Order: sequence, then C-alpha cells, then structure tokens
Amino acid sequence: MPNLSLLILPGDGIGPEVMTEVRKVIDWFGDRRGIAFDVSEGLVGGCAYDAHGTPLTDATMAQAQAVDAVLLGAVGGPQYDDLDFSVKPERGLLRLRKEMDLFANLRPAQCFDALADFSSLKKDVVAGLDIMIVRELTSGVYFGEPRGIIKEGNERVGINTQRYTESEIARVARAAFDLARKRSGRLCSMEKANVMESGVLWRQVVQEVHDADYPDIELSHMYADNGAMQLVRRPKQFDVIVTDNLFGDILSDCAAMLTGSLGMLPSASLGAPMANGRPKALYEPVHGSAPDIAGQGIANPIACILSFAMALRYSFDLGAEAARVEAAVQKVLADGLRTADLMGPEGGTPISTSRMGDAIVAALGAV
Ligand code: NAD
Repeated sequence: MPNLSLLILPGDGIGPEVMTEVRKVIDWFGDRRGIAFDVSEGLVGGCAYDAHGTPLTDATMAQAQAVDAVLLGAVGGPQYDDLDFSVKPERGLLRLRKEMDLFANLRPAQCFDALADFSSLKKDVVAGLDIMIVRELTSGVYFGEPRGIIKEGNERVGINTQRYTESEIARVARAAFDLARKRSGRLCSMEKANVMESGVLWRQVVQEVHDADYPDIELSHMYADNGAMQLVRRPKQFDVIVTDNLFGDILSDCAAMLTGSLGMLPSASLGAPMANGRPKALYEPVHGSAPDIAGQGIANPIACILSFAMALRYSFDLGAEAARVEAAVQKVLADGLRTADLMGPEGGTPISTSRMGDAIVAALGAV
C-alpha cells in the first residue's frame, strides 16, 4: 500500500478532545486491518500562538503541503479575542486554506436515521437524506476587486465584486463531476444566470465541462434561490450540488442544519491534484472550539471522526473503510448512545466524549 501520510492539527478548545477519539479509529485500522497511516502532529491556532507567537509556523505549513491529507480539530477561544488580527487563531486556518489553494469545499448533509427527529423538518422529509454540496472557496464575491466602502457625493457606498474566471469555474465543476461519478451520477449546478453575468458564464462553463468530459453524469441547472427553496421542500431530490462561494456559504449551512446537531457535521476542502494524483486536502469538523464545554469531556467527537472518514474516501481511496466508519456511527446512534448535544426532549443519560469514541471503535468490528 502506498504511503498514507496524515498531519493532525488538533488546535484549541475541544479540538484535542475530539481528535483523541479519531486517533482511536486510526489505531483500529492499523491494528485490525493492517492499514498503517504515517501520522504526524502539529500546532495550529491559539496553541501555536502560545508556543511560537504565530497561529501557524512556516514549518507546520510546509508539513501540510507535503502530506497526503491534513485533519484539523478547531481553533479559537475567548483568551485570544484581543490579539492583533494578524495573529488571531483563525489566521492559521485561513493560511492553510489559502496556501494549499483549496478551491472546493465539500459539505455533506447526511441524516442518520436515529437522529431524524432532530431536524426542524418533518421526519419523512429528511430520513435517509444524503447530499453533498460543493462550494467554490477561493474566488467570487468574497475576493473580487474592486471592493471597499467609498464616498459618493454625500453618502457612503459599499462595494463588492462577483468575479469568476472560466478556469476557476471549470476546476470546481470538475471536482463536483468527479464526486458525482463516485456517488449516484447526478449533479445540480446552482447560480443566478437570470440576473448575473457571472451566473451566465458559470452555467455555460459547467455545461461545457460536462459535454466534453462528463457526458455520463446527469447534469441539471437551477437558480440558487429556487435551490434554497427546494432544499427545504424536498431535499432528497438532490445528490451533488455545485455552486459559487457566496451561494455555497448559505446553501451549505442551510442543508447541514436539516440534519440536526453541529457536533455531527464533517467537511473537506480539496485543491489541485499533487504529483501522486491525490488532491491537496484539509478535513475538519464544521464546528468551532466550543469554549463553553472545552475541558469537560462532553464534546461530540462524531463530526471529527466523520471528517476522517471523508479523508479515507477522498484522499486515500479507502471508500469501503470510510463506509465502515459511517456505519459504525449509524450503529452507536441506533443503539441509543448520545453525547449531551444529541439529547432530545425525552432526556436520557448522555455519554462522554471518550465513551462515544470507544463505542464507535467497538462498532467498527461489528458492522
Ligand atoms: P462553536 O461551533 O465552537 O460552538 C457553538 C455551540 O455548539 C456551542 O454551544 C458549543 O458548545 C456547541 N458545539 C460545537 N461543537 C460541538 C461538539 N462537537 N459537541 C458538542 N457541542 C458542540 O462556535 P462558536 O461558539 O461560535 O465559536 C467558538 C470559537 O470557535 C470561536 O473562537 C470561533 O472563532 C471558533 N470557531 C472556529 C472554527 C474552526 O476552527 N473551523 C469554526 C467556527 C468557530
């Protein structure tokens, strides 16, 4: 088996707590399946600032560029709120994303059967939901120039520019088509081609990439406002969705919340293929460092464990092993095990972070 190098950056707050549980899963694959990951560990965020005066050292950045995948816990905390903007914990994460040029952000929205009651939607609308939103992450209106607040006559004007080049659209479209090929073979592209020129170009380029290289994928186009409505009305009509930075920001949060707790949500950010053919990749839970519960041993480790499952699938081509991790999570939830954030109105006794990790590891051998 080729070298499977993984850099772990636990970060701050509950980051190290949930990462301890991921380590147990990694060890299980090593001990029981002979899949040996070459794991290194580093500092990012507030803990890196405490140790080195910077939220990400050049050495850790270089390490991130060299490995097959990076798995990050979370960064930040109130003790860092007054730091200068340039050394805030979040700058470490932003530097990783920027220098690795991670242009495709993958946000799955998967509803585990046992948690279907958690959704704000009716159970039958979300039960079995499994969709993937691919958001363009490095361009669009958050980065376009000109931008700023200028004075025009007697009033101020706020300006941001939505700008996409053909190649920026084509590369994220390719990432989404590749993903659709690994799933059900369906892709829906969302923009506002009815009112935005960048949307017209987006639609054209996605269609061209499809016709040239992905004719086997069933491609549809939808205006993003209708997409938002459809996500809430009948989310199961979708499989993979690809959209720009701004619409993706909103639509992925909306879709994720269909499924319940923040403690359950993984993500991946992918860049261009490296020399070995694997994409540059950063995996991380969607949640933050949760300072309100840090140090108590009660955080839900599932989002971070599912982020590792995404690494298995997208960086290491270990799809069956990723499915095993997801099935183990399904099993412990079906068995009624819940961390505090997953307690419903019916109550019950929550289990600790480490007990949840242990239960998932035990389930790995039973699914
Ligand atoms: P948060 O995600 O840390 O917490 C929001 C709420 O969800 C809290 O009540 C928290 O206890 C709960 N929660 C989050 N993850 C949980 C888990 N795994 N298990 C159980 N409960 C969980 O968001 P916040 O409170 O807005 O931010 C806290 C800090 O995290 C800030 O410093 C913020 O900048 C940072 N942050 C970092 C990231 C990141 O590292 N990617 C993302 C968001 C926020």
